[in-house]
Amino acid sequence: MFDKQFTGAQIRQTFIDFFVERGHTFVPSSSLVPGGDQTLLFANAGMVQFKDVFLGADARPYTRAANSQKCMRVAGKHNDLDDVGRDDTHHTFFEMLGNWSFGDYYKKEAIEWAWDLLTDVWGIPKDRLWVTCFEDEKGEIERDDEAANYWIQQAGFDRSHVLFFGRVDNFWEMAETGPSGPNSEIHLDLGPGLCAHEENPEHVCAVNLEGCTRYLELWNLVFIQYNRTGPSTLEPLPAKHVDTGLGLERIALVLQGVDSNYKTDLLKPTMDTIQHLTGHTDEERAAFLTPYRVITDHSRAAAFLIADGVVPGNTGRNYVSRMIIRRAARFGSLIGLNEPFLAQVAMSVIENYGDFYSELVRNKTAILDNLTREETRFQQTVEAGVSKLETMLDQTQGSGQKRMPGGKAFDLYATYGLPLEITRDIAREQGIEVDEQGFETAMEQHRLASGAGEVFGVFGDENIELYQDLLMGLVNAGVINSKGVINDPYDKYEVEGKVLALVKDGALVTSAEPGDQVEVLLPETPFYVEAGGQVSDTGSIISLSDPGWEIKVNDIRQPSAGVIIHVGEVISGNPNSGDHELARVDIQRRLDIMRNHTATHLLHAELHAVLGDHARQAGSLVAPDRLRFDFTHPEALTDDQLDMIEAGVNRNIFANYALDIVNKPLQEAIDEGAMALFGEKYAENVRTISIGREEPFSYELCGGTHVGETADIGIFLIISESSVGAGLRRIEAVTGTGAYELIHHRFNLLDQTARLLDTNSEQVLDKTRTVMEQLDQARKQISSLRRDLTAQDLNRLIEDVPLVAGVPVLIASLPDADAETLREMTDRYRQKYPSSVVLLASVSAGRPLLIAAVTEDLVARGLHAGELVKYAAQPLGGSGGGRPTLAQAGGKDPEQLDKALSRAQEWIEEKL
Ligand SMILES: [Zn+2]
Ligand SMILES: [Zn+2]
Repeated sequence: MFDKQFTGAQIRQTFIDFFVERGHTFVPSSSLVPGGDQTLLFANAGMVQFKDVFLGADARPYTRAANSQKCMRVAGKHNDLDDVGRDDTHHTFFEMLGNWSFGDYYKKEAIEWAWDLLTDVWGIPKDRLWVTCFEDEKGEIERDDEAANYWIQQAGFDRSHVLFFGRVDNFWEMAETGPSGPNSEIHLDLGPGLCAHEENPEHVCAVNLEGCTRYLELWNLVFIQYNRTGPSTLEPLPAKHVDTGLGLERIALVLQGVDSNYKTDLLKPTMDTIQHLTGHTDEERAAFLTPYRVITDHSRAAAFLIADGVVPGNTGRNYVSRMIIRRAARFGSLIGLNEPFLAQVAMSVIENYGDFYSELVRNKTAILDNLTREETRFQQTVEAGVSKLETMLDQTQGSGQKRMPGGKAFDLYATYGLPLEITRDIAREQGIEVDEQGFETAMEQHRLASGAGEVFGVFGDENIELYQDLLMGLVNAGVINSKGVINDPYDKYEVEGKVLALVKDGALVTSAEPGDQVEVLLPETPFYVEAGGQVSDTGSIISLSDPGWEIKVNDIRQPSAGVIIHVGEVISGNPNSGDHELARVDIQRRLDIMRNHTATHLLHAELHAVLGDHARQAGSLVAPDRLRFDFTHPEALTDDQLDMIEAGVNRNIFANYALDIVNKPLQEAIDEGAMALFGEKYAENVRTISIGREEPFSYELCGGTHVGETADIGIFLIISESSVGAGLRRIEAVTGTGAYELIHHRFNLLDQTARLLDTNSEQVLDKTRTVMEQLDQARKQISSLRRDLTAQDLNRLIEDVPLVAGVPVLIASLPDADAETLREMTDRYRQKYPSSVVLLASVSAGRPLLIAAVTEDLVARGLHAGELVKYAAQPLGGSGGGRPTLAQAGGKDPEQLDKALSRAQEWIEEKL
């Protein structure tokens, strides 16, 4: 279309350079996972990382910024998934170029620069560009003549190309209240031949006309000048901002003069890779365009997601990662790609994008491993799932229905791991819609029943209805308030009250006996209920009236909001409903848990300090005997790193920092930089834990129980570091009591070892080295003696070698000789008989071994040592081969050695 040619990478770079030259700071793309923003699954626009700047909640050291932001639109309001693959323009992952002014320049510069970049730098013909400006159809907000006038002033701009549109097209709002303002869009006229409605005589091509593909929206310039405080009240902002967005794929399509994003150099290499894998002709590729486009789009998205730590999983963002990988795998199966293949496709993405997005290169192994693992996992269940689905679809068809119930789609997901999106794809291929609302409802019910956010949780709590009825009755009777059981695990270890209900075998009882397994409902409890990785408390409930009784509490359950149940066993006496009681937490155990929980926060902070901020929490267990912490990191930690982490945590323990525990609004905590967990839902008011004097080095949202000061932890020891999936590492550690026990145990081992070695623990290392050296020498001696013995055996055999057709042929078994010894023996044999055949066998370390040698002159007569061992080794369950003069074979079954030797004999006799 134009004179100038740019690669996608050059377009991205010229955009950034252009604005950097005009005083902008290049701000690298933020992660696809929005930092601290719980309202958003993924970054979906360039401005996401600057949102708080516009809201006035964040300040940056610059007032002008430019970047290319990684974006995903696969869920929620902006969900393009359905269109991906069906057309040439929609993507799950895409890049958004943008430039920003935070109270700095405004419309004049934004418009002038956009015009210069498009026409001058990139060479788009001026007469092809059209712009839209805001004119309120309700007449309430001022028309944006300011922007229109700046456009008209641009050199070569055709003033008839300014058009005015209303609120839907040209007024931008962040939310129902907050920053807002008019925007101005730049459209490109692709030419009359490029409208999809060309044949329709009714259609007159126009900008912003639904369905008209002649005009392409390129770049949106948003001018933020108002603060919306109510439905019809706009207040001018003291500082005005600019926020622009230009999709990289779209501008690449224009500048490269192609008619599909998949033909730009951003995506074409990936399409080509798929074609290479399928071996399709160009015609076949064109016939399977949808699978090609889906796989290309999804593998790019998956590579970027995994690089940002979003590995496949069951909930939230991880579910999206899983879903797009599985969807790509399924589309692969439609074009004959059945082996795991996505890693190879993703390689082309890494190669194509790795220069700019180095996280792809850094996390290459994690990306490739996760893709392959997820495809394999999917393959194991998909066939069963799809065939089950097909039966369901047949039934639906058979009953004349066009809609599949959502509950059935959910069963497929829960049982076979078939994501809704794939079920929907397959159903649609047969003209059947899936009730997605029903799917969501089924999922929600399941989630409630399992009492957790995990889709694959524990199935239903049998007594849930009983407890809900019970709670309702107690609330109505005014015994407890509508929030249910009072639970304060922070300030008390014991609380008095009355037994509200005793449940045995799923039914309410008025009293219980020693040995009974019971569930107890109390009005108030100090027991911590498992949450955020911290396990529930144990303890006891004792009677405060006569006669006494005691229930040992082993677990706490919370089947629904407000219902906290103590699960335990009656140890003594007869507890009755209504008895005056005291609930007591096992304090020693709880102290151990608190030490481990606070240590977990210290560990998290230290991982960031030593490894970097990418080491994000991915799971945690806080138990009395140990703590376990999973985090995202691409490779195993070195011993040095582990030492640094352990030392750092202990330094912070010995510094004896007091913990600062404060409840505050969620937004305030996030703005202050508190670490929140991805996918975790937080209330409006959150509990925050910060550690450190003046500047806290650890600041987390956390509902767990903690020690008062870090020195209470005692000591922190890492006991293991391991992998729990690609890109995920796990550290296990002990503190306090657990650490003392570990130290004690290790000292004991050392003492016992020292005693065994007849030395003291200080000398153990030296003594062990000495003993190892002695052992090594002894081994060498043994093997040399063994070789001598074997040589003697051989010498005896060589004395009297039978002849086959005049050729000396030795077939023998030598006990306990290794391969090297056997080879040496065949050499000695051949020295004595320069025209001969030999096959020696042995059993070494439980495995049979054969070595054959044939002298050169006999090779010329058609004897091949490799063929000989291969033939002989067959009954051994092994194989082998080698040169014609010397070959070796191994096997599994030493019992068959005799058989192997007689086969060798047969073979040689036949050949000679
Ligand atoms: Zn048109
Ligand atoms: Zn915590």
